[in-house]
Amino acid sequence: RASSVDAQTSSDEGVENVVIIGSGPAGYTAAIYAARANLKPVVFEGYQVGGVPGGQLMTTTEVENFPGFPEGITGPDLMDRMRRQAERWGAELFQEDVEYIDVKNSPFTVKSSERKVKCHSIVYATGATAQRLRLPREDEFWSRGISACAICDGASPLFKGQVLAVVGGGDTATEEAIYLTKYARHVHLLVRRDQLRASKAMQDRVFNNPNITVHFNTETVDIVSNTKGQMSGILVRKLDTGKESVLEAKGLFYGIGHLPNSQLLEGQVELDSSGYVIVEEGTSKTSVQGVFAAGDVQDHEWRQAVTAAGSGCVAALSVERYLVHNN
Ligand code: FAD
Repeated sequence: RASSVDAQTSSDEGVENVVIIGSGPAGYTAAIYAARANLKPVVFEGYQVGGVPGGQLMTTTEVENFPGFPEGITGPDLMDRMRRQAERWGAELFQEDVEYIDVKNSPFTVKSSERKVKCHSIVYATGATAQRLRLPREDEFWSRGISACAICDGASPLFKGQVLAVVGGGDTATEEAIYLTKYARHVHLLVRRDQLRASKAMQDRVFNNPNITVHFNTETVDIVSNTKGQMSGILVRKLDTGKESVLEAKGLFYGIGHLPNSQLLEGQVELDSSGYVIVEEGTSKTSVQGVFAAGDVQDHEWRQAVTAAGSGCVAALSVERYLVHNN
């Protein structure tokens, strides 16, 4: 057991101090802090997003709102820097997906297809996956017209001053539509049902905004491009009449929700009804002592790289404290 967390603390009896699961901003930040605290963290980076470590930002181009990069930085470059920083301080990184976790017995067990690790604590930072529509041309236009984050991309030159569309009828979609009116010439809200699921307050804000047009009973069918291969519109189908038409738009924002990657904790750690890991307010503590959660897997509200990184820091500092008090 780790007897203290001061100098040269290492795993003994084959039990690691901490296993970090995930390689997004939350996982790597936790790894940097835990490594600098001499905890010798073991990190399972995973490769679920695009077959590479680094998480959601590996699927985007410019990140313009991460502090410290006044000219912006590409998502993959930012994640590569975080990874190298974690490695430099001695985090042990495995590009493997965790397939099984047991936090009912102590020490905990974490298993990938390659190895089984026993540990005293876990930082669970597996992120969330933006739900996709699976349009036929979705991959072609992902980050080149299609986005899953209005706050991240709304102000980009690609979208500024353009006609844009948001798909979805809940709080996320209505919030995205309202947010985008700051930058867009006009915003279309594409809703499959004949009504919005969003709260009454959000509905009022949408209906009272002259820069938003709501299209009910409308299915988003595909992206339409111009002769230069740029996105120029959206093929939509009216569900009540079956009629198809092209709506002029330079961008399509998905507001159809996120799926937290919390499956491995099901039945062991408290999750909310949407599958987000429940943490004690203002902390990263889950319902199981020694298991901490960070980043989008426990955050249905902010979902930003900097908030994920911040919560990764909190989780690693909490691990350090936990090990001092429980060993
Ligand atoms: P993620 O980045 O989702 O990383 C989760 C990690 O966990 C991944 O590495 C994954 O492989 C790993 N993992 C999952 N399951 C397992 C498993 N079983 N075993 C091992 N590893 C596993 N935010 C901004 O602040 N600015 C932006 O400009 C911005 N742009 C974005 C653009 C796009 C296209 C998207 C999708 C998101 C964007 N975001 C942006 C949001 C930001 O990417 C997320 O808020 C942030 O990445 C969340 O970090 P995270 O560490 O919680 O999880």
